[in-house]
Amino acid sequence: MLSVQDAEAKIFQLVRPLHPEYDREWIPLDQACDRLLAAAVQSELDFPYWDNSAMDGYAVRAEDLVRCSAESPVALEVVMEIPAGHSPTQSITAGQAARIFTGAMLPKGADTIVIQERTQREGNRVLILERPEPKAWVRPKGDYYKAGSMLLQSGTRINAPEIAILATAQCTSIPVYRRPIVTLLSTGNELIQPDRPLQPGQIIDSNQPALAALVQQTGATVKRLGIIPDRPAELKAAIATAIAQSDVVISSGGVSVGDYDYVDKILSELGGTLHIQAVAVKPGKPLTVATFPNPDPKCDQPILYFGLPGNPVSAPVGFWRFVQPALRKLSGQPHSWGPMFVRAKTRQTLKADGKRETYLWGQLSLKADGTYEFDLAGGSHSSGNLINLSHINGLAVLNCGCTSIPAEEGVLVMQVGSVYS
Ligand code: AMP
Ligand code: MG
Repeated sequence: MLSVQDAEAKIFQLVRPLHPEYDREWIPLDQACDRLLAAAVQSELDFPYWDNSAMDGYAVRAEDLVRCSAESPVALEVVMEIPAGHSPTQSITAGQAARIFTGAMLPKGADTIVIQERTQREGNRVLILERPEPKAWVRPKGDYYKAGSMLLQSGTRINAPEIAILATAQCTSIPVYRRPIVTLLSTGNELIQPDRPLQPGQIIDSNQPALAALVQQTGATVKRLGIIPDRPAELKAAIATAIAQSDVVISSGGVSVGDYDYVDKILSELGGTLHIQAVAVKPGKPLTVATFPNPDPKCDQPILYFGLPGNPVSAPVGFWRFVQPALRKLSGQPHSWGPMFVRAKTRQTLKADGKRETYLWGQLSLKADGTYEFDLAGGSHSSGNLINLSHINGLAVLNCGCTSIPAEEGVLVMQVGSVYS
């Protein structure tokens, strides 16, 4: 059976990222939050766009003030006022100054700003009380970047700072990677939708809504095929439909060794290549990973198929450990595809059978001293019990061969959400 690390490496090998050209779309800047740039962005403008003042004060010529001090202030004639947003109407010459405000354009002739706290206004004159450093408080044109500079690299995730940068450079239409399309289906004769009356023996499909939320959080587009019974012909038709419309297909259930577990056989019959059929991980051993050639002959990206086990804990754990990293790589994110692990002190003793790499769910918190603590979720850690998954944000990892980590010892914890202190 494959180790978790080998399975992860195999999956990364199979994933081809979306193509920065063929898989690119242009979207308005105000819809670009959380998307990934599919091309580098350059500015056509210098920034600052023109010499401007960093403070409220007076625009002056430094050479007029070389002998200026508190004891012998220099008087300058104030010849104009320049509020932010105005273009100066004249130049200043020897002995002159312009009243100026933060962000306003410097007039021709001025090279320095004297902040208003170092001045005294007397009618149309201003007394300068201190010799300014030449060029003080001037933000020169192009000082932060010049026209033609690269502002953001391809693959950058667009967030508030990037939106501000793009707006400043007047980039209002943004080239981003399209969202990957992920189709979900649940297999099982026993399954019903959450809104149907429950009959004896039935089980409510909790995996599909949970997986839909998880996939959406990655930025992919979710398509849902609903529940498909364990009848080979119907399942085969559904899987074929899913493959034809998706970059990635995720099914839950039907990948174990039971009499009704048809998924792997159907994947082979449909021409898929099975790369993984089981991983030494608990929960989630029966994991299927297959690929199909892309129906578009111009596209060398295979269609990925993940068959997650049906148990309601195995499905999300399998998603977090194996599917989410694959979706990150596929989406065009240039690095950091894998899960984040932190070392934490466990508050409880952690136990495993040692046969497979075991993931125990709980809460990771950041303490005031900057270290992490892991609190094991109470109750049963059975893969069929989803109730204590609520509020969790970490999975403690016990490697193969490890049967116990005593309380107060260090453990590696995989993050699966945000960590609050
Ligand atoms: P399977 O992987 O198909 O053998 O299913 C394993 C267990 O998970 C069985 O008890 C199923 O009833 C349950 N199960 C399968 N699919 C789902 C689902 N979509 N939602 C909740 N439980 C499920
Ligand atoms: Mg089943």
